[in-house]
Amino acid sequence: MKSLETLNKEIISCRNCPRLVKWREEVARVKRKAYQDREYWGRPVPGFGDPDAQVFVVGLAPGAHGSNRTGRQFTGDASGNFLYPALARAGFANQGRAESQKDGLILKDLFITACARCAPPGNKPTAEELANCQPFLERELEIINPRVIVCLGRTAYERILKIFSESGLVNKFSHGASYPLSNGTWLVCSYHPSQQNTQTGKLTVEMFDSVWSKVRELLKKEVKARIFRR
Ligand code: SF4
Repeated sequence: MKSLETLNKEIISCRNCPRLVKWREEVARVKRKAYQDREYWGRPVPGFGDPDAQVFVVGLAPGAHGSNRTGRQFTGDASGNFLYPALARAGFANQGRAESQKDGLILKDLFITACARCAPPGNKPTAEELANCQPFLERELEIINPRVIVCLGRTAYERILKIFSESGLVNKFSHGASYPLSNGTWLVCSYHPSQQNTQTGKLTVEMFDSVWSKVRELLKKEVKARIFRR
């Protein structure tokens, strides 16, 4: 727990990507009209959830007026409004509502993080920015030591493949697919619950629920020896 707290302090104070530092702070200063009376977080967003989780969820990056405003992963935007109700239905969250750090949301056996911790312009971090942020992801994986990693979107999947390059997995992102890594951890792919996907029907509630059902099934499987240990 202490190592996660130490890591989160490092993440929150990080300024390694000049373009993202400028953007996250500019968005927090100007604000969206609907949030003019709110204080924006405007800093890197650390991981959120159960430090003893068996399930590790990786998203892309904070939304400019979502996590960059609230300071918590997937909180205060449309993606979170799709994600957390699904987690609640699957028993991984005590509620589907995610509005602020004080909304009472508790994750059970699940930890959520992202490839990049700072809101990027156009929701697109560059390859260099993703590489800059990767060590934070690796350290979270070491601390959490999950049995199942859920990649929300292709960028998250490709980043996890880079970290587990010795697994020999080829780039076969497909919604609902699951692959065992060489250390015994399972990797599960899902479309990202962005508005772009959920409003066009690319990702439906049923499709998303089936991902979390699969995660539940995988948790029942026997675990082999794994690389990351506490
Ligand atoms: S994206 Fe990651 S590495 Fe870049 S400034 Fe934010 S926290 Fe630091």
